[in-house]
Amino acid sequence: MNHPDPIQGTDAAIGADPLVFIIEDEAEIRALLAQTLSAYRFRTEVFATADAALIGIGQCMPAAIILDLGLPDMDGMEMINRIRARGPVPILVLSARAHASDRIMGLEFGADDYVVKPFDPREIVARVRSLLRRAAPAAATGSSESGERAPREFARFENWRFEPQSHRLVDPDGEETFLSTGEAAILTALLKAPRRVLSRDYLLEHGGRDDTLDRAIDVRISRIRKKLTRPDTPTLIRTVYGSGYMLTAQVEWVSG
Ligand code: CA
Repeated sequence: MNHPDPIQGTDAAIGADPLVFIIEDEAEIRALLAQTLSAYRFRTEVFATADAALIGIGQCMPAAIILDLGLPDMDGMEMINRIRARGPVPILVLSARAHASDRIMGLEFGADDYVVKPFDPREIVARVRSLLRRAAPAAATGSSESGERAPREFARFENWRFEPQSHRLVDPDGEETFLSTGEAAILTALLKAPRRVLSRDYLLEHGGRDDTLDRAIDVRISRIRKKLTRPDTPTLIRTVYGSGYMLTAQVEWVSG
């Protein structure tokens, strides 16, 4: 729990002045976050309700979203789902609840990271930065220098399609969903090494790499699994007890 200096240096990967939406009904916290983020060269827009924020998101998708789970007008889980339906934007959840199980719950909701109140606003800055860094290839904004990633490619498996850049998962009927940054990273790792058992450590290195507990891997796997589940087919991700996880499908990578 000790963060040396959460914010150091600049980061080319996340580009200049990224726009962050702050969705929080407590005016003081809203102002504190906006002020701190501005001091670190983020642009911010603040919203006091879920409805107002959804309208804002409809007009312009920010680079990241900070979302208070306890909003007056919408359940936190529903709000995350609504945001997720619009695109793969990283979501950092704020909650008043302090139990470890709530941390896990934040990830179960599909958030990318989770901070419990009260918090040091600089820690929020550090976490937003880390989310933007991880999301950088997905953003595909025109910022040139860091654009040396593989060209757009996608994976085909058992009539599914997954696009790592956009986190877009399309089921055999053409229905699409978007994965969180952590989920997308883990699914990509599984798809890159199909039919091999990948250990939790490997997945942490390639996907989770956040400071949350390593149970986060299991939570994310279970979310991915849920998204990949259809009534008529067996699970595509097998748990190999004591070893890790394995994707059972045959995968074809296609450059788009
Ligand atoms: Ca609140």
